[in-house]
Amino acid sequence: MIVFDLLCAQGHRFEGWFGSAADYASQKKRQLLACPTCGSSHVERVPSATRANLGAEAPKAPTGPAKTPDMEGKDPFAIAQMLYSRMLDELLTKSEDVGREFPAEARKIFYGETDARAIRGQATSEEHDELVDEGIPVARFPVPPGKAN
Ligand SMILES: [Zn+2]
Repeated sequence: MIVFDLLCAQGHRFEGWFGSAADYASQKKRQLLACPTCGSSHVERVPSATRANLGAEAPKAPTGPAKTPDMEGKDPFAIAQMLYSRMLDELLTKSEDVGREFPAEARKIFYGETDARAIRGQATSEEHDELVDEGIPVARFPVPPGKAN
């Protein structure tokens, strides 16, 4: 759901809830939109912050601190980058850094020769491919400069 602030020809401002921007356009085109105060169907969308309803909040929830203020007004690419960065932080905090020992440690864990745990470290492409060939579950991901230590 998305909320649009709407303004009628008489200057009444109200909110309209729509399934999508296309839904709004369709309703407006068929003159299904009407001001709740005066009934005017001359309704325009007011440029303002569009809010996304993620299903948890009632439409008229009291205004308080937004749950995800850092996502407001950002493009999807920026949000994806932010989520990736958070995931990476999580990963780096919860795994043990074994550095260049990674391929050897990954093998030991896989074959039960040491305690099973989350590890991270470096491996060359060849080493990575060998681990994959052996059926050892490893994931390769790029770490931005400054994240790895
Ligand atoms: Zn009106």
